[in-house]
Amino acid sequence: MTSSDELQKRRSSAVARGVGSVINSYVDSASGGTLTDVDGRRWIDFAAGIAVTNVGNSAPRVVEAVRAQVERFTHTCFMVAPYESYVAVCEQLNALTPGGFEKRSALFNSGAEAVENAVKVARHATGRSAVVVFDHAYHGRTNLTLALTAKNMPYKHRFGPFAGEVYRVPMSYPLRDGGLDGATAATRAIETIEKQVGAENVAALLIEPIQGEGGFVVPAKGFLPALRTWATAAGAVFVADEIQTGFCRTGDWFACQHEGVEPDLVTLAKGMAGGLPLAAVTGRAELMDAVHVGGLGGTYGGNPIACAAALAAIETMRELDLAGAARRIGTVLGDRLRAVAARDPRIAEVRGRGAMLAVEIVTPGTLTPDPSATAAVSAACHAAGLLTLTCGTYGNVLRFLPPLVISDDDLARGLDILDAAFG
Ligand SMILES: *Cc1c(COP(=O)(O)O)cnc(C)c1O
Repeated sequence: MTSSDELQKRRSSAVARGVGSVINSYVDSASGGTLTDVDGRRWIDFAAGIAVTNVGNSAPRVVEAVRAQVERFTHTCFMVAPYESYVAVCEQLNALTPGGFEKRSALFNSGAEAVENAVKVARHATGRSAVVVFDHAYHGRTNLTLALTAKNMPYKHRFGPFAGEVYRVPMSYPLRDGGLDGATAATRAIETIEKQVGAENVAALLIEPIQGEGGFVVPAKGFLPALRTWATAAGAVFVADEIQTGFCRTGDWFACQHEGVEPDLVTLAKGMAGGLPLAAVTGRAELMDAVHVGGLGGTYGGNPIACAAALAAIETMRELDLAGAARRIGTVLGDRLRAVAARDPRIAEVRGRGAMLAVEIVTPGTLTPDPSATAAVSAACHAAGLLTLTCGTYGNVLRFLPPLVISDDDLARGLDILDAAFG
């Protein structure tokens, strides 16, 4: 087999430099909680393709459903000739997402596309244009979603000008806002909105219930409910971006459920189809159905193979109780991270929920971010065969997103590597 070194050489003369990779090893195969590279090395997977393979790679039901679908038909375009699996995925999403009200869904290909469409729906339904987003937010890499995303490097740098009518307000970030309680942090955000945007101009308030790329920032309790209440009073659409937090990752089907928050619209992608590209906007029927026929869609959105995979992935989550699995992983991982934090003063905080946990790394005794120590720990993990990711506005957060089907053995081995990587 071609070695990773050879593939790396071919890559550098074939693939655009702007597309990066976390590791230089090329994948040969992958399963529940591990990847095997083309050099025959086995990796323990604490990344899950960025919270995508929650059901594991090549999950048996997903493989079976994809195989059956690919033999029946591969693509007709739902806007041309519709098929059942698209409808069935929408039914599942309407039933699973928070909120007992009547819902509708529309399917797309990527998270960014789902966010773009949630903004389209909110603007169309309200007749308003302003979109409120938060510090540290990540919502994608298309032009509108780059405007919604907070961080310059590497996402936005020299890619502007960006879409207008986007307003950024302070997030609840307990480690870095002096531990403001949720209600106070919400008041701070709301005052900014009312002064700088005007409540009556806000089409959508868009928020990740736990921030992903921004650093696994968990807002203080009460922050999300207070914003939800404000949005209702303001006539603004409350959009929860659950693209990274969704599909059992945080120990519930969706992270909003933890505080009983019912968003008007939810954006979904990553974990929903076992690794196939599929995304969705799900939400209140009166908002979704406000859009004229033909106003939403796309050539590939809700591709039949991706829909078959999503139905199989959702069935797997239900059958294996992967929300429960995420809570168990969270306990084991969290205990170990707290033990490491107790001896290593570089760890300012262990945070997250369920199987979405992270540590924020600083210069001991301060809150000064230490991205180089973070990179060094991550590199030590990689050298020992554990695939981990970093994130955070300051590049100083080491995050853990194991597949929810990871075996106890692989989880324990991964934790031993992680523990040793802190030295
Ligand atoms: C990954 C992500 C996106 C963008 O999804 P893509 O499929 O990469 O376009 C949007 N929002 C959040 C919260 C994400 O984690």
